Amino acid sequence: MRIATTNPATGEVLKSYEPMSTEQLEAAIERADLAFRDLHRTTVAQRGRWLGAAADLLDAERDDTARLMTTEMGKTYAAAQAEVTKCASACRFYAAHAERMLADEPADARAVNATRAFVRYQPIGPVLAVMPWNFPLWQVMRFAAPALMAGNTGLLKHASNVPQTALYLEDLFRRAGFVEGAFTTLLVGSDAVDRILSDPRVRAATLTGSERAGRSIAQIAGRELKKTVLELGGSDPFVVMPSADLDRAAEVATTARCQNNGQSCIAAKRFIVHTDVFDAFAEKFAANMAALRVGDPMDAGTDVGPLASSGGRDEVHAQVRDAVDHGATVLCGGEKPAGDGWFYPPTVVTDLTPQMRMWTEEVFGPVAGLYRVSSYAEAIEVANGTAFGLGSNAWTTDPDEQERFATDLDAGSVFVNGMTTSFPELPFGGVKNSGYGRELSALGMREFCNTKTVWVG
Ligand code: NAP
Repeated sequence: MRIATTNPATGEVLKSYEPMSTEQLEAAIERADLAFRDLHRTTVAQRGRWLGAAADLLDAERDDTARLMTTEMGKTYAAAQAEVTKCASACRFYAAHAERMLADEPADARAVNATRAFVRYQPIGPVLAVMPWNFPLWQVMRFAAPALMAGNTGLLKHASNVPQTALYLEDLFRRAGFVEGAFTTLLVGSDAVDRILSDPRVRAATLTGSERAGRSIAQIAGRELKKTVLELGGSDPFVVMPSADLDRAAEVATTARCQNNGQSCIAAKRFIVHTDVFDAFAEKFAANMAALRVGDPMDAGTDVGPLASSGGRDEVHAQVRDAVDHGATVLCGGEKPAGDGWFYPPTVVTDLTPQMRMWTEEVFGPVAGLYRVSSYAEAIEVANGTAFGLGSNAWTTDPDEQERFATDLDAGSVFVNGMTTSFPELPFGGVKNSGYGRELSALGMREFCNTKTVWVG
């Protein structure tokens, strides 16, 4: 894939880059390794000051950075601004809490026949981060902020369509004060990942992306015996039970499906509605979806911008066509617009059956699948009847049902009466084919630490 910025609203190629040569790549890995030797000897407090400086730069440069993201991948300008602000908050969160997260944890010395015993968290070295374009700043930051705070160095292989955001990130950490080589952007295609991860200086990898990329990286890491964290795709269920506040559920369902122009791993994608409220919910939801304004992502009145690539739009449309060809009903949308830019209308499809692609595949665009169920048990069966297990949503005001959903939904998170999202304070990740390992919170920071047992006799 070509490394270039192409504006999804127009299809115009704005800037192209030559991939790094083998020599440049070698020099970058060497710098990351050397930087690690410096960085892990700095204090947590010092790293916290640098991360705090990064947060201040993000806030000060919010609008320009947001414009850059919108130009590279098509999210609305307002969403891009919010993403920058969220990144600044995550930097401040880790700057404030890393000292506690990385502190030695005493154990019961007497129980292990020691005078002193404790667990110490130490960084492991350069970590490769392979990242997607959909939240081009946030996906990187949720790895980089805790990893740098722990004293690791980062090597970023970003998606090939967001090279300018990738270069901005390297520049950001350098200007914030981190040592040269602490965070490096590698302008390379995915074919270079094997070479980078096989390098003995690179200690681990994190990937946010598709299942296909996850399998490939896990294979390389398995061969090389290296730790990986994989944040992969999802087809999150959004279950609506009879006691739910239907207006609120239909409103949040619309945002949950169409956030980021429908291209979010934790977007609700399958709407599983109890038959008692199915018709009422379907009517409200389809009306909300049809009312969203599709258009120029820089325009403040736009709710849904273009999809990030022409191929991505073709794929989404093919999944809708496949459902229709097999007998599904389209309640709104479903037509590919003519003209420039890779726009796709918010779409609701119902009467889905297991032989349709939409039943089993992730749809990465503003397309909702609507399923009718007649009981709690059937809702759980449909919700869990997928290879994915990233986020999940349940709408019910019944406390007993809330408790059961929390246990029964087979996913990395369960959000009751609210939209799935991420917070630096809470772990984020999936089960099944949505990946393994966790980002954010103290758990995310410790994924790339040596959890060292220290026993003193
Ligand atoms: P993708 O094709 O897997 O790309 C993601 C990154 O992986 C890019 O940097 C890409 O590089 C690289 N890559 C692709 N194939 C690779 C391979 N065989 N070996 C090594 N690296 C490879 O994913 P996408 O289509 O851009 O992103 C959408 C997917 O990401 C969806 O499935 C979505 O659900 C998932 N996602 C998951 C999360 C989460 O937190 N769980 C968050 C966001 C997105 P190139 O760009 O150079 O190809």
